[in-house]
Amino acid sequence: MERINLIKSIHGGGGIAMYELISRLAKNLPLRSVNGGTGLDEQDDGAIIPVSGKNLVFTTDSYTVDPLFFPGGNIGKLSMCGTINDLAVMGARPVAISSAFVISEGFPLSDLDRIVNSMGKISRIANVPIVAADTKVVDKGLDLIINTAGIGIAKNPVMDSGLNPGDKIIISGSIGDHGIAVLSDREGIKFGTRLKSDCAPLWTMISKILGYGIHAMKDPTRGGLASALNEIAKKSDVGIFIDEKRIPIRKGVMAASEMLGIDPLTLANEGKVVIGVSDSDANRVLGILQKTRLGKNARIIGEATKENKGRVIMETPTGGKRILDMPLGDPVPRVC
Ligand code: MG
Repeated sequence: MERINLIKSIHGGGGIAMYELISRLAKNLPLRSVNGGTGLDEQDDGAIIPVSGKNLVFTTDSYTVDPLFFPGGNIGKLSMCGTINDLAVMGARPVAISSAFVISEGFPLSDLDRIVNSMGKISRIANVPIVAADTKVVDKGLDLIINTAGIGIAKNPVMDSGLNPGDKIIISGSIGDHGIAVLSDREGIKFGTRLKSDCAPLWTMISKILGYGIHAMKDPTRGGLASALNEIAKKSDVGIFIDEKRIPIRKGVMAASEMLGIDPLTLANEGKVVIGVSDSDANRVLGILQKTRLGKNARIIGEATKENKGRVIMETPTGGKRILDMPLGDPVPRVC
């Protein structure tokens, strides 16, 4: 591991640097799971806590997005969707959320109202109550940081480690929309069509496919599709083979990524899911997803292999092959 003296922005980027930091810090914590469930050692989207025959799933995340309001959402909507989606990709029905705000002194109350109103809208749409909250005010720092934690219940929890050779890989829609929407708004860059964040709660869509052979799921947030696929490949100890030309990417996102020199596969998404599904159920699951509003552009983009364990290999549109590495962090800081 790289010797760390000072924390850098990359340590919050959802890539190798962040995982190494969490692993290092976790060594100070003697208790990291409950009742034989999973926890900090697995670093999955949520922890599984077996309680009297049921699987409670517990997750937490903090949001530091800049700007607080962006095309397609704001920090409040993002904080709700992020936590609902981390529960959903564990196969868990979201039950309740807590939220804590760290607010800079002088922050406009009207903005806070708009942000909390957005949280309320997602709470109603997804039918997930916010049952506990806290506010702290600081005299300097970021304008607003929101933490949300959530609990859910999973009949059959889905972990990153369950992918088998032969399983198909599905992405539920176009990638990179959130990262580019936030970045272009922040930097005041125009790319022709106005790009919107894909920020959305995914539980309703995911609940429709849970009865099928779903072996792994992940929301490709920070570090994007590249990070999500690498984590699944490593934790499942299989190879993943991806056909690059099957990955749905909007023209505007592609153009913006090229202009900025960013790999769109490493950009954050907030309304997408990567699914590893048994070969026999893949077309069925794809059909179900494509009938939903959020999954209408879903595609099978590849499959799990016995070869190249722990690695993601991508066939490029010209027919060559390259290793799709785990990114060190997100190429764009503070997008979520
Ligand atoms: Mg996640």
